[in-house]
Amino acid sequence: MTVLSKKAIELWNFAQQHLVAGVCASTRVNRALGRPFIAMRGEGSHLWDVDGHELIDLCTSHGGSILGHKHPKIVAAIQQALEMGILCSYETEYQGKLAAKLAEMVPAIELCRFTCSGTEATMHAIRLARAVTGREKILKFEGHFHGYHDYVNFTWGPSLRDLPSEDESPTLVESAGVPQGLAAYCVAAPFNNPAALEKAILKHKNELAAVICEPINYNAGCIIPDKNYMVMMRQLCSDHGIILIYDEVLSAFRMGPDCAQGYLGITPDLCTVGKCVAGGTPLSVFGGKKEIMEHVSPLGKSAHSGTYTGHLIPVMAALACLDEISSPGFYDHINALADKLYNGLQELLAKHKIKGRVQGLGARFGLYFGVDQEVRNYRDAARADKEMLLKFLRLAYEKGVYFHDYQGHPCHHGFSSAHTLADMDEVLCRLDSAFQSLR
Ligand code: PMP
Repeated sequence: MTVLSKKAIELWNFAQQHLVAGVCASTRVNRALGRPFIAMRGEGSHLWDVDGHELIDLCTSHGGSILGHKHPKIVAAIQQALEMGILCSYETEYQGKLAAKLAEMVPAIELCRFTCSGTEATMHAIRLARAVTGREKILKFEGHFHGYHDYVNFTWGPSLRDLPSEDESPTLVESAGVPQGLAAYCVAAPFNNPAALEKAILKHKNELAAVICEPINYNAGCIIPDKNYMVMMRQLCSDHGIILIYDEVLSAFRMGPDCAQGYLGITPDLCTVGKCVAGGTPLSVFGGKKEIMEHVSPLGKSAHSGTYTGHLIPVMAALACLDEISSPGFYDHINALADKLYNGLQELLAKHKIKGRVQGLGARFGLYFGVDQEVRNYRDAARADKEMLLKFLRLAYEKGVYFHDYQGHPCHHGFSSAHTLADMDEVLCRLDSAFQSLR
């Protein structure tokens, strides 16, 4: 590996001189490789690293590239934005068109605003919920990740040792520098557990501005909640004047054009959308019911602005991306790929007599070693064998399939519409040999 990755190691060593840990985002140090993956280029379903290795990509920009790399329509859209003058901080005809397209596709969105990242989107959605309700607390779920701002940096990847009771979650600070006092504004609860949710909401009902969740908990691999549980969450929020926020930064457009909310048949009051919405360029969205969104400035008093927000490059890319996503047959293709990959992986586990479970929905999935029961919550996911996963991800890389590791947290992986059924055959063939070496 060291010899094969000579250039990557050299570049990483160079970057470390002035870039913290040699990476722009902490999770980019892939522990399975012992270093970051350093890309040379990407095209469709494939990546090439700086040492010239060709890999089939099952990270897909952590979910950002639903159309694969270098999609011609995204390239053309960006080209158009460049030719218009790389306009930044000006409105053009396209921002309104993108908002209209989102309103057409995403059930909760009547009005929306754009942000540069998912972190900003959840921050603004929560601020807005507080502004509208006049309450200050939020409820979030154990193992659900909503970005890095200080109001949500709690209990998204706790150690099992810190979770003593099955029916309660402590509010645990996940980063040094987050004021401990902010924990008072965040109630945590275990996901997919109706009694625990009811108890937490009833206890704090008059103080809760919002309940925020990942409607499909891909940040713990892929956890699909019980429908009745999600109906109950919707009802409890409505009953107690709490704003229900679906954070769809990762789940949006993964399994259908109407996102996880369409899949579940439940409409939240607010939602966030991110990652793949702009085909691998930086744009996220917060949006929802008109009467709530009208509290955003200058119509209302909840502040939102930004130099780069609604930048024309990602706006044009998002229009092209959503056009593609809403084209006939798009999700038939995604679903055919999903069936082939997830069934194929489960069969390979059985063939090699390795205990493990694949859980996927649409274009993203989790792979849990040492587990044979359904993974129903973060704790089930955290009990999976992480050392075995790391070994497997490294072997997969050596055989030509790129997966990312999330620093010991449960991992999500995924593919794009640029992947073909033949790619999936090739993935399964390469991984057959990775599983063989794993045993
Ligand atoms: N919410 C969810 C559900 C996410 O998965 C992420 C990113 N993994 C974020 C928010 C933060 O998004 P960003 O990385 O764009 O800030």
